Amino acid sequence: MDETTLNLDVISRQLLARIRGLHGAGVDWLPKEAPLPVVESTPIVATSESLPADSSFDIVEQPQSEAALSLEERLAALQALAVEVKGCTRCAELCRSRTQTVFADGPPGAEVCFLGEAPGADEDASGTPFVGAAGQLLNRILAACGFRRDEVYICNVVKCRPPGNRTPLADEADNCRAFLVKQLELAAPKYIVALGGCAATNLLQTTLSIGKLRGRFHDYKGIPVVVTYHPAYLLPHKHPEKKGDVWNDMKMLLEKMGRPIPVRSG
Ligand code: SF4
Repeated sequence: MDETTLNLDVISRQLLARIRGLHGAGVDWLPKEAPLPVVESTPIVATSESLPADSSFDIVEQPQSEAALSLEERLAALQALAVEVKGCTRCAELCRSRTQTVFADGPPGAEVCFLGEAPGADEDASGTPFVGAAGQLLNRILAACGFRRDEVYICNVVKCRPPGNRTPLADEADNCRAFLVKQLELAAPKYIVALGGCAATNLLQTTLSIGKLRGRFHDYKGIPVVVTYHPAYLLPHKHPEKKGDVWNDMKMLLEKMGRPIPVRSG
């Protein structure tokens, strides 16, 4: 076999592997204009934060930096990550009680990511985050800010429902952190809103209370983070009087984003 034929054979096999990988991740079409990238034989560098010590915890390796990936490639990588999450059994109690894993709602490349703590009963049943009572309130907060729900990215610290809707334990959040880190790298929001103390403390790796974290921007890997109350905390039987604080936090975000601040009707 001459050198040209040999190179073509290598490229064909790389393309075939790439197509199989995308297909396995649930991608069954690609835009006509998007050239299929040739898989480089660059060694994968895993940081201590992006992968847990447990080698059985297989995160899909990314041969390119996420910033260099196209939207289609990021979508495919997120779909592959969701498949990894679906098979995860690291939290014994959660994977016994869950109906299904709840990965995310929204497109990669969304400008804002809203991060909650864990799926509840409605989310566990539907497979979509923030669809229950708290989700309905989040939808109203989004609408008040001028966001469409389908233009933001929504996910949780842990992907499985804790029994009785309890707050995730520290080791459960730690178990799921590599998934969250990779998910945020691939979704690549420009801003993150941490909804509630669990989301804030786990994302920012801090022990400060939500009261001390609100009212200013924090940093997660160069992404500005706003901390505010979880919508479930604002429900009528809890602390609806805190809605004004959430609105102030959202106004701070909108101002930083350079978006108009709607006049609040009530
Ligand atoms: S919460 Fe996360 S780490 Fe725990 S079992 Fe579910 S997917 Fe796995």
